[in-house]
Amino acid sequence: MNRVYLDHNATTPVDPEVLDAMLPYFSGEYGNASSIHTFGQKARAAVETAREQVAALIGARPQEIVFTSGGTEADNHAIFGIAGAAAAPSSQAHGPSTDAATLSPSLGVPSFSRDVTHAARERLQFTQKNEGPPKVLPLPRIITAAIEHEAVLNTCQALEKRGISVTYLSVDRDGQIDLQALRNSLREHPETVLITVMHANNELGTVQPIEEIGQIAAEADVYFHTDAVQSAGKIPIDVNAFKLDLLSLSGHKLYAPKGIGALYIRGGTRLRQLLYGGHHQRGFRPGTENVAGIVGLGKAAQIAKASLAEDAKRVAALRDTLERTLLQRVPDSRVNGAGAQRTPNTTNITFPGIEGEALVIALDLKGLACSTGAACSSGAVEPSHVLTAIGLPAEDARASLRFSLGRHTTPADIDFALPVIPAAVAYLRELSPTYHKGAKAEVHS
Ligand code: PLP
Repeated sequence: MNRVYLDHNATTPVDPEVLDAMLPYFSGEYGNASSIHTFGQKARAAVETAREQVAALIGARPQEIVFTSGGTEADNHAIFGIAGAAAAPSSQAHGPSTDAATLSPSLGVPSFSRDVTHAARERLQFTQKNEGPPKVLPLPRIITAAIEHEAVLNTCQALEKRGISVTYLSVDRDGQIDLQALRNSLREHPETVLITVMHANNELGTVQPIEEIGQIAAEADVYFHTDAVQSAGKIPIDVNAFKLDLLSLSGHKLYAPKGIGALYIRGGTRLRQLLYGGHHQRGFRPGTENVAGIVGLGKAAQIAKASLAEDAKRVAALRDTLERTLLQRVPDSRVNGAGAQRTPNTTNITFPGIEGEALVIALDLKGLACSTGAACSSGAVEPSHVLTAIGLPAEDARASLRFSLGRHTTPADIDFALPVIPAAVAYLRELSPTYHKGAKAEVHS
């Protein structure tokens, strides 16, 4: 059976060139990158080349890249790390630093170039000095958005249980946060230490105004983290232009394997380490390096940097054809998030009257793979928190599907999908008592 995969936001295949680059590190070049003999040195050299390649994709310096087990760990490290440093007494607040000036072969020496958490404490004390009798300093606050991935939302919720306050910014119909609401929240809460707002949304593909958010964060002297898992390799990223302090990315969304990712940490940023162990990656992320995975991520980043512009143009044209034709062929269908800038590969469409899960299964039986939303939440009964956050009633949220194209998607794949989807929707609507009721009610009114 012909099978077409339109679920690249869930995961991507490993690029053949990536696999070729990785293979030697499973066999001949099996050294531990911490060993000082030749085997170890070869592994170390490969890891450092990959660090340069990942850094180049996002405009960072290699020493600001820490390899992780994926996007989830990177998000956890960024958020727990900043909150942990802010909540701890100054003397205990800081783990190692990525600042180039403090590099040492083992643990970096903490640098004092930019201590935002200290700035938040000072702002609070200043505010309180002018507001009468001293009060107990509130714990730090984090600002995030309602449509973040669970890797961010559940980390924030875990921190809330420990007394840290979190502001969840709402979004408009296109999934965009309101910049004025962000400014207001910062003004009302001088204890804020971190803004964490994703770059591109996994379900909608919508892209946040990241440069403006970075400017606001810099003016407020608050750390800024973005989850770039769904944007890295699809649209350009420049950590300096975006004024980012922290950025998460994940290998398996950009044609590298699952179980490898990276966290960008701007030099001088203070964050508590997440894991404790040896001195690997200068103490930032202990654990023997996953050399093959790291080499794969480096190669994938190098390929993405070279092919990003070309891929984006080609994939966006295919996505637009799919979207436009489905809207023409499926009555009442609507695209979600279409008013915002989107990643070129993603479209999210509501087909009123159907159950998303049933449509995914019907399409799978015909050979087409797509998704009802985040892969991690499929099987959950609740409608997508992203779609309800943009204002969709639960019924419409449940009737929505995500199609996400990839670098290897062809016009033939789209030709395959185009008749299959309207036919499956029509079949399910035929079985749906609610859709028919609605249609009849309209006819008689
Ligand atoms: N952030 C976003 C936006 C994602 O889409 C995902 C995965 O779907 C993650 C984080 C988690 O990344 P990983 O699967 O590498 O842990």
